[in-house]
Amino acid sequence: VTKIGVLTSGGDSPGMNAAVRAVVRTGNYHGLEVYGIMRGYSGMIEDDIFQMDSRSVANIIQRGGTILKTARSKDFFEPEGRAKAYENLKKRGINGLVIIGGDGSFRGAQKFSNEFDIPCIGLPGTIDKDIAGSDFTIGFDTAVNTAVEAIDKIRDTADAHDRLFIVEVMGRDAGYIALHSGIATGAENILIPETKTDIEELISSLTEKEKRKKLVNLIVVAEGDEYGGANEVAEIIKKRLPNADTRVCILGHIQRGGSPTCLDRLIASRMGYHAVECLLNGRFNVMVGILNNKMNYIPLDNAIKAKQKISEDWLKIVKILAS
Ligand code: ADP
Repeated sequence: VTKIGVLTSGGDSPGMNAAVRAVVRTGNYHGLEVYGIMRGYSGMIEDDIFQMDSRSVANIIQRGGTILKTARSKDFFEPEGRAKAYENLKKRGINGLVIIGGDGSFRGAQKFSNEFDIPCIGLPGTIDKDIAGSDFTIGFDTAVNTAVEAIDKIRDTADAHDRLFIVEVMGRDAGYIALHSGIATGAENILIPETKTDIEELISSLTEKEKRKKLVNLIVVAEGDEYGGANEVAEIIKKRLPNADTRVCILGHIQRGGSPTCLDRLIASRMGYHAVECLLNGRFNVMVGILNNKMNYIPLDNAIKAKQKISEDWLKIVKILAS
């Protein structure tokens, strides 16, 4: 591998810039030419590719979003689209790729590396933390801290008015943002897609708390929860507890933005560095993860299929601490 391309794809996440910076600088350190590819696979197909050096990634480690922009590319699902992308890499002599994105982006990378002789390395860039084989994904820590900050503020106003607040956080079909932010803000209930919620139990716990004059209640709901989100949960609760002053807050896209936390900058830098090392050492078509504070390389295949499981321990802790 002598010339490598780097791109960010799918949903953006804070810390992607730190990863791009690490790839570019590590590549340059080893004497590789590094090319930035704009807007994920779209830029690869449309030939929006430019050479980068250490200076082109100056002053970005602290910035959210991604300087390479990101996109979802319909054309990359088609063999013709991928063939065009390959031609554009080939004419520049690019013979290695680093893809920073989620499981969809890895699926694309896996297809591409099967069809053409260009090794691909995936870095888990997603706020959802829904990738197996890594304790961390780039952007999760920032997103969850943003959620915690927002929920703390909601609790203040909930407390002032004795309100029941139902807060919806992101995570697609994963409940990690809800679980972590819910525990960290002392939420009374946390609804996540990984576990079934017994709505009767939820209602009776709220009724019981009402009796104990515990008037402030905070319920954190993952957007992918079985009931379909905070509005839907609120409808059920309003019907059953018409006296409660129930409000909904959907945090939305603030969870994607903002300056990455120290942790996200660190893991992005570490993963970016090791992505280049993988390409240099012939460790191809893997996702670079961190497991138990060690680098973990898993075939892109497995990064795609497996989902993380929420540990039973956490679920027990939620129940006990929210009483
Ligand atoms: P994420 O990477 O955040 O999960 P997406 O699921 O939207 O985001 O995937 C990002 C892009 O990866 C898609 O727009 C598409 O270009 C490419 N991609 C995803 N799945 C496939 C696939 N099965 N075959 C080819 N390309 C794919």
